[in-house]
Amino acid sequence: MDVTDIKAQNIKRVLEVLRISGGTTKNEIAAITGLSFSTVSNLCNELKEQGVLVEEKISSISVGRIPSIQIFKCSRYASVCIDFQQEGILNFSILNFANKRLYQTFFDISGMQEISLLTDLIETTYRDALCQMVDIRIVGVGVSIPGIYDESTGLTINSTVSVLNHTPLKELLEHRLKLPCYVENESNLCALSICQERPEIRNAVYLHSSSGLGVGVICEGHLLKGKNGYAAEVAHMPIGTPDVECPFCGNSGCIESDLSQRGMETLRFPTHSDEVRARLMEDRAEKLGALLSILVNLFDPDVVYIGGRGFAEYGRLESTVLRVLRRRSPLGMGKELEILHDMDSLRAIEKGVTQVIYDKWNPLQK
Ligand SMILES: [Zn+2]
Repeated sequence: MDVTDIKAQNIKRVLEVLRISGGTTKNEIAAITGLSFSTVSNLCNELKEQGVLVEEKISSISVGRIPSIQIFKCSRYASVCIDFQQEGILNFSILNFANKRLYQTFFDISGMQEISLLTDLIETTYRDALCQMVDIRIVGVGVSIPGIYDESTGLTINSTVSVLNHTPLKELLEHRLKLPCYVENESNLCALSICQERPEIRNAVYLHSSSGLGVGVICEGHLLKGKNGYAAEVAHMPIGTPDVECPFCGNSGCIESDLSQRGMETLRFPTHSDEVRARLMEDRAEKLGALLSILVNLFDPDVVYIGGRGFAEYGRLESTVLRVLRRRSPLGMGKELEILHDMDSLRAIEKGVTQVIYDKWNPLQK
């Protein structure tokens, strides 16, 4: 690690203290980070020159020397979030580093076959949104995909949104928007949002159902990626209905066919009798329970989140899911494993994107 890397890391440590505390003194920052007072002071001064920090006097103290607190102006910085979790819809939003949504719109892209049309749409929307931003600096764009971003080739693969497959989406958007771009799997972003929201959690699983079925795993405080970024790919695990052919990989029995949004919506076909609907509901709940028990047994998490539009009606599946989990994962369940339903996974995705962009951002770069 060279000096520049160490400095960048120290800056992030200082900012993280200020981001969580809302503002504090240089002495306090030094005590929390373990950095020397002079290092903290130099970094704060540089950040102040860049407009990242402001200094304010604590006016309530009336005797002695009046200390100053450093405040991170996190609402001045923002990132673009592009999301595809709802089948046929592109969601475009801008959030500042305080996680406040500054802009949001969406488009029907169900008939879109050409990646150039998609990047045209994103670029036009970005330019329009930019005109409405006052005193805000956009520092990056994050794209949440139901699929995998292959870091070795820079291509988007295995996505249920076909227009994204085998495209250099990151490179195309960096060229169009002139911003650093990060492409990440949607369930990984949901998992990262848990780290931000609940930093005490070291091990977590987030199972997400949209046009695809994915899982994000936080293992000992880190997002599990694997050698190629393919880790924890559950979509094509052969524990689904055996005779159903998967339209994506061509095999039969992929769990995604049952538990993706499309698979879950088959429960609501108007032609089904109440009896058929109840049987299908029980079947999906059993399968969800089985998948979760595999994940719990593999990763021994503190918490499991279930989210995405496909699981909007999780409340109706819950009693069967828990019964299967108690049977198949007695060790984890015996330790009061938390199983939570996230009703707003788009918010989790947006927070995850903001976190990724914030982590990669260099505040001293003009
Ligand atoms: Zn498959």
